[in-house]
This record gives sequence, C-alpha cells and structure tokens, in this order.
Amino acid sequence: MDAEKLKVSAIGEIDARRQQLNELSLKIHANPELAFQEVKAATWLAEYLKENGFSIEQGICGLATAFRASYGKGKPAIAILAEYDALPKLGHACGHNLIATSAVGAGVAAKLAIDRFGGTILVIGTPGEEMYGGKVFMVNRGAFDDVDIAMMVHPAGLNTAATKFLACQSLEVEFFGKAAHAAARPEAGINALEAMLQSFAAINSLRQHIRDSARIHGIITDGGEAANIVPAHSAGHFIVRAEDDGYLDEIKEKVINCFIGAATASGARLEYKWAEARYAPLRNNLTLARLFRRNLQSLGRRVHLFDPRIGIGSSDIGNVSQLVPSIHPLVAIAPPEVVTHSPQFAAAAISEAGTRGLLDAAKAMAMTVVDLVANPEIVTRVKEEFRRGK
Ligand SMILES: [Zn+2]
Ligand SMILES: [Zn+2]
Repeated sequence: MDAEKLKVSAIGEIDARRQQLNELSLKIHANPELAFQEVKAATWLAEYLKENGFSIEQGICGLATAFRASYGKGKPAIAILAEYDALPKLGHACGHNLIATSAVGAGVAAKLAIDRFGGTILVIGTPGEEMYGGKVFMVNRGAFDDVDIAMMVHPAGLNTAATKFLACQSLEVEFFGKAAHAAARPEAGINALEAMLQSFAAINSLRQHIRDSARIHGIITDGGEAANIVPAHSAGHFIVRAEDDGYLDEIKEKVINCFIGAATASGARLEYKWAEARYAPLRNNLTLARLFRRNLQSLGRRVHLFDPRIGIGSSDIGNVSQLVPSIHPLVAIAPPEVVTHSPQFAAAAISEAGTRGLLDAAKAMAMTVVDLVANPEIVTRVKEEFRRGK
C-alpha cells in the first residue's frame, strides 16, 4: 500500500473509533486531575493503547503518571505527546482531554504505516504541563534520548501549524515581618504585606522598560490574617517569561531586585525560590510544520503556518524541541475570542467542535507519521533543519 492509500486507511481507523475516543475524552474531562495527580487519565490512556497492541511502561522518569507506549521497532522513532492535566477550579479549561485522546487516536491509526514501512511509533504520556513542567524532568531523565521527532496538537481558537512559546520560570516569594496591633502599636510591627505591595509596584514600573514580548505576572497567596494585625507574613507566586534564555536571565535578576528593594524599604526579610523546572522557548521545525499543515488542510481546515493572532504563553514542549525536532500546532475548537484557561474553553473541550478538533488533530498527526515513515528523505530534511538551527 502506498503512502496516500495509508493516509486514507488511517483516517478510516480514526473515524471508526470516533465514539471510543470521544468517550475517553469526556471521561477525562469529567474527572479533572491536577498536575502530577493524573492517575485516572494516565491509566485509561495506557489501557487503551495496551488493548490496541502497544507495549506500555508506566511511571517512567520517576513520575507516577508519566508513561511510554510503543509499537514497532527501529528508526525513525516518532513520538506523539499526550498531556492530560487539568487546572485548579477550572478543570479541563486548557482542553488537555483532547490532546490526550488525539494522541492515542493518532498512535493507533499510525500502526498501519509502521507495519508497512517499519520504524517505531511512541505515545508518550507527559504529565504536569500546567504547573510543574513534567516534560522538563522527562527530557532531563532521558525520555526523549532515542526519539527522532516529536509532535502534539493543542486545542485553541484557531488553526496554526507553528506556535510561539516563551522561555519561562516561576518564582515563590515570601516576606517575613513582625506582628503587632495595627492601631495600638503599629510602630512595633514590620508589615510583610506592604513589602509585597511595594514589590508589585516596582515590578509594574519595571514592566515599562522591558521588551514587548516579555511577561511578568503574579498573585498574592498570603496577605495577612486580620485587618487589625500588622501582617507578619506575606507570600506570592510569580512567573517571568522572555523570548530567549539570555533575556530571561536578565529579567529574572531585575525582578529579584524589585523584591530586594522592597525588603530593604520595609525591613521585612525576603526569601525566594525559583521553580526547579525552567521552560525553554519553542523551536518550531518548519519542515515538519509545513507537512502537518498540508495534512490538516486536506481535512478541510484553513491553517496558517504562523497565525499572528495567537497569544503567546509557554509550554514544556519547548524543552523537548531543544533536543529533538518538534511541532506543537493548534487546532480550532472554538472562535478566536474564546481563550484557553476560561470556563468557556472548558465547555468547548466537550462540544461537538471539540470532538471534531480531536479527530482532525489525530488524523493530521497520523497522516504526518505516514509521510515520515514512507519518506526517509523527509526525516533527513527535518533533522538537517534542526541541526542548522542549533
Ligand atoms: Zn494551559
Ligand atoms: Zn494546555
């Protein structure tokens, strides 16, 4: 069977599994699990892949909810990445239920191409994208060492083959002051909340003088106990993002100086800790992105290579993309004004358009795998582009 016929068969495989994939997606959506606690989702996904002939390793890289499913052997080894963590309070407002099920759908449909042309198809379960950067640990612990190409598709408000992601790192900050009666003896207190508020003011000033693409944002997680007590403790959580690693380092230092200045001014003691995982910026492999774009377009979607309307966040696939050629396209499941991390997006993730997005993402990934295993020269071109960009 040639590549074009295999693509038609792969599409048929996914259509035949529409109900199964949709049920799996709805079940994950109805049971939202936070980062690194995705026990149910990881088990259901791995079970589905096992039933469909994949060999499974669960709890890889020291992460209980990470897994690796593989089918076939030898090169090229193409990995489809699944995410399945939810957000606090909002549930699956980033649509990771669709990412997970499109990944398993694509993996199962790609088996036909592996049987015909050889190579290995992997579905790698990558937990904790939203809060901890599970892929950062997995990259560091060797999960991608034998992988040639990685891809995943994220639901969004538009279709695009390439996305931009910023480097980022999060930061926990605490100020320690001294409690006192806020009215009777304010002069005896050291106000940890004021130190936090001054830090916000300093960061707001700093924001005028950084590059447009950089981002600094945060929340206060402890602002005191009662209005009549001088707050002895305050805490906050911040995220700093920049287009490249060098600029991220530069802004990180400036942000810390804002906190140090506030500590000096208030007399409160500062403690801070950068998160262990640092997200790298995304390196899009455009050879791969163009291939994927053609396949997604063949399903009747209009797809940009880069859509300038996309808001820029960060993702731990950035770290994967620094090691192996990768893409992270977006598939539309809602109008552009419906943004991820909103209740409206959580609703879109179980809508009819959500199911269509799941199926089209799975089909386009499976078709791209067909292209890659059927045409070794494309794999060579993908790798050459990756090497040139280093
Ligand atoms: Zn998200
Ligand atoms: Zn997401």
